[in-house]
Amino acid sequence: MIRSLDLRGKALTKVGYQKAIPRAKLDIAAALVAIEPILQKVKSGTEADLLQLAEEFDGVRPPSIRVPQSALDKALADLDPKIRAALELSAERIRKVHNDQTRGVTTTKVVDGGVVTERWIPVDRVGLYVPGGRAVYPSSVLMNVIPAQIAKVSSIAVASPPQKEFGGLPHPTILAACALLGITEVYAVGGAQAIALFAYGMDGLCEKCDLVTGPGNIYVAAAKRALRGVIGIDSEAGPTEIAILADESARAGDVAADLISQAEHDVIAAAVLVTTSEKLAADVVKELEVRVAKTKHSARIREALSGIQSAIVMVDSIAQGLDVVNAYAAEHLEIQTQNAAQDALKIRNAGAVFIGRFSPVSLGDYSAGSNHVLPTGGCACHSSGLSVQTFLRGLHYIEYEKKWPLWLPLRDELTSLSPYGAPQVPAEATLNTNENPYAPSPELAQAIADRVHRVATTLNRYPDRDATVLRTSLGKFINTLSGTNFTADSIWAANGSNEIIQSLFMAFGDRGALGFTPSYSMHPLIAKVVGVTWQDGGRRADFTLDTAKAITEISGKKPALTFVTTPNNPTGTLLKIGEIEELAKATAQVSGLLVIDEAYAEFSKEISAVALIEKYPNVVVIRTMSKAFAFAGARVGYLVANPDVVDAMFLVRLPYHLSAITQAAAEVALEYQAELLGTVATLIDSRAKVIADLESMGLTVAPSSANFIIFSGFNVEPAQIWRQLLDRGVLIRDVGLLGHLRMTIGNEAENQKFIGALKEILQK
Ligand SMILES: *Cc1c(COP(=O)(O)O)cnc(C)c1O
Repeated sequence: MIRSLDLRGKALTKVGYQKAIPRAKLDIAAALVAIEPILQKVKSGTEADLLQLAEEFDGVRPPSIRVPQSALDKALADLDPKIRAALELSAERIRKVHNDQTRGVTTTKVVDGGVVTERWIPVDRVGLYVPGGRAVYPSSVLMNVIPAQIAKVSSIAVASPPQKEFGGLPHPTILAACALLGITEVYAVGGAQAIALFAYGMDGLCEKCDLVTGPGNIYVAAAKRALRGVIGIDSEAGPTEIAILADESARAGDVAADLISQAEHDVIAAAVLVTTSEKLAADVVKELEVRVAKTKHSARIREALSGIQSAIVMVDSIAQGLDVVNAYAAEHLEIQTQNAAQDALKIRNAGAVFIGRFSPVSLGDYSAGSNHVLPTGGCACHSSGLSVQTFLRGLHYIEYEKKWPLWLPLRDELTSLSPYGAPQVPAEATLNTNENPYAPSPELAQAIADRVHRVATTLNRYPDRDATVLRTSLGKFINTLSGTNFTADSIWAANGSNEIIQSLFMAFGDRGALGFTPSYSMHPLIAKVVGVTWQDGGRRADFTLDTAKAITEISGKKPALTFVTTPNNPTGTLLKIGEIEELAKATAQVSGLLVIDEAYAEFSKEISAVALIEKYPNVVVIRTMSKAFAFAGARVGYLVANPDVVDAMFLVRLPYHLSAITQAAAEVALEYQAELLGTVATLIDSRAKVIADLESMGLTVAPSSANFIIFSGFNVEPAQIWRQLLDRGVLIRDVGLLGHLRMTIGNEAENQKFIGALKEILQK
């Protein structure tokens, strides 16, 4: 029933072994000729042509090519509960294995300023073919659909031949398996015409696919070969095959059963036993006789086993046996030897390797969790089986920065920097730079215009370079908020708090600066530009600051400047005044300044660190009119500190740095402080609403004491969501924090727009 081949004493080359154990002849060339008219017909045809092809090749005219949802639902409802349970168990195991196949993003810094990032992106649309033929394979539905779903392919269609017994629908178990996995797009079409339908699409019936996967007969394989290029293919699956490498320790009954398990698929299926044991070979032959006679498809099996493609091969040693099976590159390879696990490690060419007597190929066919769509015909030498990877493409994103010309004597430490650049693009809802969304009232706008008009008549003169009036007003403003007693001597004003930060570095940078990331990205950036060494301390996973750890870092690094942002940007997290006091002591110990960046202080209930300045002269508080004060366009920031700190600011400021117009506008704004700060309460309320909305969508939001929030819990890259929001007119901020995005609280309409757009994106 099965031929024997004695390779003992004949060490052959890889090709030699391949010639000794050939595959069954497959006349793909003839099949290509046969399918050509079918491909042409589908390419330019209509549903009527597909119906006619079904009649011709499947012997039945389906009611429609697209399987109605009701048929899918009915198939699932009618599915034998035992089969359903088995499919569910298999699905769970397949998911377990394939979930581990997803790949992360890799970023390679090739040279300074040159980065290549590889991201794995799913194909947009895939067509999965499930054969009808001699047996029903609902497992093939699982093996194809689940990896595609895990790869996040957004559009999945399935085709399977119409069956005469089922009124022209595909086999009900196939339909049930589709329904079980949530597949709704199924076509009753088989063979070459199914592949052509996926490759070309058909107006009003089926959209063109990017990729087709799944096994099939020779005509399906021929169609894949003919259409590769028009559509991507997984592989041209040929007849199934099993090779078993066994020694005297193997049980003849097991070996025979496993050979039969693949031989029963097809008359041209291959079953090859490679063994060192004459006794095993003889016993297997006996077992085959007995078992084949008893099986349902004995004629088919007998034909498969007696074909040229099947053999019992005698070898001298396991080492020679390994050479033989490596040359053969079987779709399925079983190792049933004394040291099966070790021998298996020497396998390089096989679709899948089944180790030991308790891992038969039939387990892999259904519910080992491994994939059963595997390379046949020796293709295992160059290809792997179906996996999540089949549905993904590795895209390289190449990003090289400007290379500065040699004639330009740019400072070394600047060459690798990129300029501050929150994307400045038009959007209906601009929620990216933490501005206050409420514009000044017409009255305030008029008052500013009037004051600027007055100042304009003196613009031939330099402004007050000490901005005394403005600094006095800012002092009074702080005193009303914090119950303090500051005069202009304790206040410094500049073009935004960014200029204040720069001045602090210029004045005090000698022993370097320390900050706790993630925090305001401009602190380290300005430090580098000014030439101050910056060191990053960390935060806890929930973004709160571990003060004990911070104090250890301060004592160890002895920085001249320690930066703490509270409420922190971009995380919204807060530091208690008591904790700030601990840091004040620690920084004083190392003769350093503690710089508290309070850009968002107005949004939190915590008392301001200005209260500490009297007791701790090394505490410096920076604030801004850009955020709560709704005055970002005017560029006014200020500092509250011991007068000696302010005196040092005079050393580093540029003469007349604050224009007369800026000073005038800021003075008016301070007169309208009630109006400008009046929106803070509204924004705090809106913040609570946005957080509740995001949480109801299953997202995680870090507690925020500022006018922005960061959220996480979506499983695509932040940049992708950022882009999709922008496409819907909503601009938020990708702060480069893994898995997180930052959104500034806007007005009611803007917040609604953001939530609506995000819902739409996440539901897709
Ligand atoms: C926005 C912001 C600033 C800068 O504000 P300007 O006064 O506009 O320069 C400073 N610090 C932090 C933490 C900020 O978020």
